[in-house]
Amino acid sequence: MADDKPIKVIHERNICIGCCACEAIAPKFWIMNKDNKADLVGAKKLENELYELELDAEQGNIEAAESCPVNCIHVEENGKRKI
Ligand code: SF4
Repeated sequence: MADDKPIKVIHERNICIGCCACEAIAPKFWIMNKDNKADLVGAKKLENELYELELDAEQGNIEAAESCPVNCIHVEENGKRKI
């Protein structure tokens, strides 16, 4: 599709342990939910507890992914996984 954006941020929410690191680093995108797991703001649900957000630029989400102790945040650029 012509409106495809180059960056995809993926959250495997089922693995999230609610450590708040992503929210501390990229609060525009990551907000803690009442269930003590992070939500990826504006993401669409791909399947059960798997979310995806498309962006023009990674905007700190690589650092957020690097901070995640259970590696449940991933960033892809043009279909290639960065983390
Ligand atoms: S850094 Fe990872 S484990 Fe911690 S709240 Fe964010 S998504 Fe969850």
